Amino acid sequence: MDQTLRRAIETLADRRSILVFTGAGISTESGIPDFRGPDGVWTRVDPAEFTIERYLANPETRKRSWEMRAGSGSLKAKPNAAHKAVAALWKTGRMVGCVTQNIDGLHQKAGLPAEAVVELHGNAHETTCMSCGDRMPTTEVITRLDHGENDPHCLLCSGILKTTVVMFGEALPPVATDRAFWMATEADAVLAVGSTLSVFPAASIPLEVVRAGHPLVIVNQGATEFDDLAALRIDGAAGSILPKLAKALR
Ligand code: NAD
Ligand code: ZN
Repeated sequence: MDQTLRRAIETLADRRSILVFTGAGISTESGIPDFRGPDGVWTRVDPAEFTIERYLANPETRKRSWEMRAGSGSLKAKPNAAHKAVAALWKTGRMVGCVTQNIDGLHQKAGLPAEAVVELHGNAHETTCMSCGDRMPTTEVITRLDHGENDPHCLLCSGILKTTVVMFGEALPPVATDRAFWMATEADAVLAVGSTLSVFPAASIPLEVVRAGHPLVIVNQGATEFDDLAALRIDGAAGSILPKLAKALR
């Protein structure tokens, strides 16, 4: 076994409340591109287009957003070995929970119970009305697009529909944020997977655990903002490393 992996296992072996913090990199092996990796979404589209102001003001932006959502295939993605390993680690009773920046719902699809997951940036599978708060599966909106609507509105109140995915300029969901900070307070180690740890306030969650004096283990391809703070850094694919880690910690 690789030396760094062995040390990561040693670091986490006596921990009882590991916080797993995940980013887009844990889902690339499920076919969903990340944002800032070499093939990331931001190499193709302009983030400035995805502000909440533009979305609310501009039907064209909404049309494009729904088209991208429908065309990306990410709603149909399946969990990979890394998501399954996180669910396996949860079953050992060594985890306080999983805080994710991802919007793909793959942790839950891999078997992690809903109460163990905090989705800081929302979920692409859920759509809400910006006026009356009605909720519906995003697939219902996609079906309306398939039937020729460009910018479907709420069937109850005609309000603007939007997935619960947090856009630029929008606040994080308060309940999720509170739960994430609670988990950070309870944690005695943090395992960060597939994230550049550069998006705030999300990245303040692992930082909180480090500030309390607990170790940070990073599994990521490429550099992160917190490399200097990490007890250990494993540079490699989450789908091959996490199963080994979870197996050793059984
Ligand atoms: P990021 O794009 O900033 O960073 C992802 C990191 O993961 C990169 O360093 C990349 O090199 C690494 N990586 C890629 N594939 C990997 C693999 N197989 N194993 C290990 N590492 C791998 O992602 P972020 O830090 O999550 O921040 C991006 C923002 O984008 C988040 O706010 C998130 O909400 C959103 N996002 C979510 C999804 C999703 O839900 N799957 C996808 C794209 C973006
Ligand atoms: Zn409504």
